[in-house]
Amino acid sequence: MEDVCIRYIDLPCCVNGVTVQDESGFYNVYINARLSIESQNEAIKHELTHIKRDDFYSLESIQKVESF
Ligand SMILES: [Zn+2]
Repeated sequence: MEDVCIRYIDLPCCVNGVTVQDESGFYNVYINARLSIESQNEAIKHELTHIKRDDFYSLESIQKVESF
């Protein structure tokens, strides 16, 4: 398992979650605390898929990355 830290914070209502990678390669996943538990779990799965796929290293556009 990768080094991932999941935190719950208030994000704008249209944002489910974001992943930020710091300089040491550690992933910080921020999940919108305003979502229902089910939506939060979906958002975590979504962000973990990005991490597994190394989307943050790819040169593909965000739109393509978000299309799964
Ligand atoms: Zn995404």
